[in-house]
Amino acid sequence: MATTAAAALLAGCATINTEEGDPLADLQEAQAYNPDIPAGTGYFAERSDLPFHAPDFTRISEDDYLPAYEQAMMIHKAEIEAIKNNPAAPNFENTIVALEKAGGMLGRINTVFFALTGSNTTDRLDEINTEISPKLTEHYDAITLDPALFARVKAVYDNRAAMTMTVEDAKLLETTYEGMVHAGALLSDAEREQVKAINSQLSTLTTEFSQDARAAMSDQPVIFDSREELAGLSDSDIKSAADLATEKGFDGKYAIALQNTTQQPLLPSMENRDAREKLFMASYHRADGTTDVDTRMLIAKIAKLRADKAALFGEADWASYAMWDRMAEKPKTALDFMEQMVPALAATQRREAAMLTAAIAADGGDYEVKPWDWYRYANRIKAEQFDLDEDAVMEYFVLDKVLEDGVFYMAEKLYGLTFQKRTDLPVYHPDVTTYTVFDRDGSELGIFYFDPFQRPSKRGGAWMSNFVEQSHLYGTKPVIYNVLNIPKAPAGEVQLVSFDWVNTTFHEFGHALHGFFADQRYESLSGTATARDFVEYPSQVHEMWATWPSVLSNYAKHYETGETIPDEMIEKIEAAAKFNQGYDFGEVVEAALLDMKWSALSPAEAAAIDTPEKVDAFERRSLEELGLEIDLVPPRYRSTYFNHIFSSPAGYSAGYYSYLWTEMLDRDSRKWFIENGGLTRENGDHYRATVLSRGGTMDYFQMFQNFAGRAPDVTPMLEARGLVAGDEAADSEVSDGALPSQAVN
Ligand SMILES: [Zn+2]
Repeated sequence: MATTAAAALLAGCATINTEEGDPLADLQEAQAYNPDIPAGTGYFAERSDLPFHAPDFTRISEDDYLPAYEQAMMIHKAEIEAIKNNPAAPNFENTIVALEKAGGMLGRINTVFFALTGSNTTDRLDEINTEISPKLTEHYDAITLDPALFARVKAVYDNRAAMTMTVEDAKLLETTYEGMVHAGALLSDAEREQVKAINSQLSTLTTEFSQDARAAMSDQPVIFDSREELAGLSDSDIKSAADLATEKGFDGKYAIALQNTTQQPLLPSMENRDAREKLFMASYHRADGTTDVDTRMLIAKIAKLRADKAALFGEADWASYAMWDRMAEKPKTALDFMEQMVPALAATQRREAAMLTAAIAADGGDYEVKPWDWYRYANRIKAEQFDLDEDAVMEYFVLDKVLEDGVFYMAEKLYGLTFQKRTDLPVYHPDVTTYTVFDRDGSELGIFYFDPFQRPSKRGGAWMSNFVEQSHLYGTKPVIYNVLNIPKAPAGEVQLVSFDWVNTTFHEFGHALHGFFADQRYESLSGTATARDFVEYPSQVHEMWATWPSVLSNYAKHYETGETIPDEMIEKIEAAAKFNQGYDFGEVVEAALLDMKWSALSPAEAAAIDTPEKVDAFERRSLEELGLEIDLVPPRYRSTYFNHIFSSPAGYSAGYYSYLWTEMLDRDSRKWFIENGGLTRENGDHYRATVLSRGGTMDYFQMFQNFAGRAPDVTPMLEARGLVAGDEAADSEVSDGALPSQAVN
């Protein structure tokens, strides 16, 4: 249509005066603007011609990536130049939408390449990754910080009040503009140089932190002189300890390597209390100067630089700067949210400690429980109380049934979806299966790839992503994959899965639904393209259906007898999930609080923490002033080895609370479903309309409000964690858990 208009205009304008300021001439010039964008070659140049543009793995070879990347970056640059050089005045279409459309080929390579490096990598792919990642960062940074490009974006943004836009257009404009501002586009040249200098110092210091924290963990195992000290460990653990000691030059002794968290997995088995204390204290004092590794001054410098960087952007502290695109948005919102859990949590910590001290006494001990005793006794009580045999539980979970009669059944009951297995699409590994997903009206909704098994070429964990993003601009439908790491049964045996993996299968499919129900014009706002403290919420909610009675009775059938899983087994699983939360949950809340306290320092406050002792004191004060039992339940990571927040320039800093925040949204939503009749099409359609179909196009509080009819409340999460009893909640200190109403706007 644009071509027709331009042609008509050109045809009738031979006599028009083209001097400056003539609007018709401007229009003519704009319409005639036909920049020279080089055409791509090879597989990635166009969308795949398979159904739904699914990737055609038969046409992709490893040697294609580097040349394709070089070409795609070159084309992307040319597209950006074309936007900058457009003689027409900047407007939404020729600047914001043009920017959104640019880089299509690069995006297609990225989606396939990073899917494969994650789930089916090779040495060659890893090499290419190492080579291409810094180039990609540089490429995208150059665009985000291009002054001429920003000038056009800003011109459109500054004119927004005068423009008529859809809600989604307005959001695209806002995120494009704010993303560039966040990177430094509004700063003066001198300030931008300061930011660059800070970024480079942060990069050096955080790399040093990560190396030191790793050295304190891997290079400094805890040495034990005798086998007696390790009584209670298995023969194979003891042999590993002997081997490690030899390797480290302590022949004839025993060495235990520290693991990532403050608690250490071997502690519960160790009978010798002094040995337990020794192992725990080595973990707790990691990198705090007790040995020759000391990260405390690195932390102080990182905190100061982050506060300084935030100040250059006019923000009070690092958290305010880092949280610009989050649901919680302000550090105070996240802090208030966590602090309101403290009374119930502290009470639970004291109650659990008393119970464990009693168990120790019953065992003949005359001491009070300490962190190094905690799990030894907690695990013992848990085993007695819940008597849960995980192998017996697994016999009710056959993988195919979990997916097709559990997850797909849930999706049918809630959303009216149906699924059909396909055999015509190429896959990147023979274990991957594909399904067409049909919508409630019978139309095709998208394609689902399921890649369940652990293998050496796959990184750990579980995740969801898209091969093709839904977009009305392009008329594309979602092509989505779920990757899990379920240990594969030996050939010929029935594939059983643990209850944890059952939960994860529902969780990852929750992400998939968020992607399938995407209803956006722009890829960059589509489906799961949402804030870090929001994106885990829809996935977590879907875990609730794994134990929903009518879903369970449809899929959880014994692999031999076909019997449905007994209710008491599920009740035990659910009751066990509430056990020991003073510790399990407490250590996470403390780590999240610690992260936020470090991130909420002003430049002056950060500058005052200028000695290693002051780092210790700040950490202690931050946790102590809240009233948690930090000597009984220390944080999951102490500052000196908190890699999430200190081992990269931004990382998860000011973001560790996200795990808790999305859990609040999740648990409160479960409550809504239960109050409204549970697994019904009406409820599913409502959730789809208000949350799952909205992508990143609107305010997250508003989204929740539209769904639940009220602001999110922390109480259901505390109930689910067993920190307050459901029927007492109304009287408890934390019942007034609704977030401050101004946060809802
Ligand atoms: Zn997830």
